[in-house]
Amino acid sequence: MRILIIEDEINIADALKRALAEQHYSVDVAGTGEAGMELAEVNDYDLLILDIMLPDINGWEVCKELRKNKFTTPILMLTALDTIENKIRGLDVGADDYLTKPFDLGELLARVRSLMRRQTDQKTTIIQVADLTMDTSERSVSRAGKDIKLSAKEFAMLEYFVMHKNKVLTREMISEHVWDMNFDPQSNVIDSFVRFLRQKIDKDFEKQLIHTMRGVGYKLME
Ligand code: CA
Repeated sequence: MRILIIEDEINIADALKRALAEQHYSVDVAGTGEAGMELAEVNDYDLLILDIMLPDINGWEVCKELRKNKFTTPILMLTALDTIENKIRGLDVGADDYLTKPFDLGELLARVRSLMRRQTDQKTTIIQVADLTMDTSERSVSRAGKDIKLSAKEFAMLEYFVMHKNKVLTREMISEHVWDMNFDPQSNVIDSFVRFLRQKIDKDFEKQLIHTMRGVGYKLME
């Protein structure tokens, strides 16, 4: 899952990026409202973390503008402005959730998971597909009761697959949601990672979950 952070304080942006990357998310950072809106227009994000006090356009305006342009990605507002009026204003211009600084990293990550789930039919962090179980909070995967160890990227890819189970996912969609803006579209890295993933979650099992859709992409199916 891919996250855009619009935050001008470099220390906070860096700490956030590190914490989110540790949780296997792909993260892009913009230091101004203008740069953030540009990225939001070009890339397909699963979540936007938006600071309010930015050097150019404030977060409320960014939010309003994005929503006007049919940007449906969940927005988590992050700010030092902790008055009720500011929270109301943020939610009313289209933010989905609100967290005041200083925030607890654990709470932020739980809100990130919750906001991303709302885009799917998942209600908890435990996702089941056939006999495969994935816990996006504990970051564990098992199949038929057997623990499976995945690398960060494999986990990120599987998370995207299970969140969109039974749907055809093109290579472009996978690269947009699992990689960040440094992805090289010429590479065959997606096919390689699907191969690694299959080795771990499908190879030793009778029923295959990851299916190749010839000329299109992949689909994870029960
Ligand atoms: Ca700021």
